[in-house]
Amino acid sequence: MRNYELLRNLMVETQLIPRGIKDKRVLDTMRKVPRHLFMPEKYRDDAYEDMALPIGEGQTISQPYMVAIMTELLELNGDEKVLEIGTGSGYQAAILAELSREVYTVERIESLGDNVRLKLKEMGYDNIYVIVADGTKGLPEKAPFDRIIITAATPKIPECLIEQLNDGGIIVAPVGQRFSQILIKAKKVMGTMKEEYHTPCVFVPLIGEHGWKE
Ligand code: SAM
Repeated sequence: MRNYELLRNLMVETQLIPRGIKDKRVLDTMRKVPRHLFMPEKYRDDAYEDMALPIGEGQTISQPYMVAIMTELLELNGDEKVLEIGTGSGYQAAILAELSREVYTVERIESLGDNVRLKLKEMGYDNIYVIVADGTKGLPEKAPFDRIIITAATPKIPECLIEQLNDGGIIVAPVGQRFSQILIKAKKVMGTMKEEYHTPCVFVPLIGEHGWKE
């Protein structure tokens, strides 16, 4: 049995801080949340390595650095209502839930969504709501949101997600081609989106009405 707490601290010291992650709340949360519990048993010992890993159904849990930078770019202060598109393993949702008021997370693959819902309940998270649906349409019945994070590659930020974001709100998403993207942070200022471009990245595709076709 590995010392997971030690591995988590090492992950923060060797992968996150040297690459410029500075937000203390993000770093502390990544030292705390047991990432290994969000992945299949056979990959648990690799949970704190510098890479994305398979979670079944052809999907992945994102690399720790990618989770950290996307979370930092969201500028959470603890009071936000957050929408995540692409629940996957549920790890990013757990990180967001530690740093905001409540998290709605949408997953397209039913088995993944159902597993995560159970797991998060067992772990005691009561401010995360897992919904199985096509997240490219957002979640109009729960809108508006203060923050939106898309954790799958999208050709563009769907217009309906922008409509579901409060003014002053932030969307973070990997935008670009199917096999290579750039991480974008877009802030809604008086109805228009002000975009910043961050690191290159590679995510699995966002598949749905306003994403890629299957
Ligand atoms: N955030 C996840 C985590 O912490 O493990 C990683 C997400 S994984 C890189 C991308 C996820 O997006 C996959 O689980 C995939 O099934 C999901 N996805 C793809 N298209 C989707 C859509 N239209 N709506 C909701 N989820 C979608």
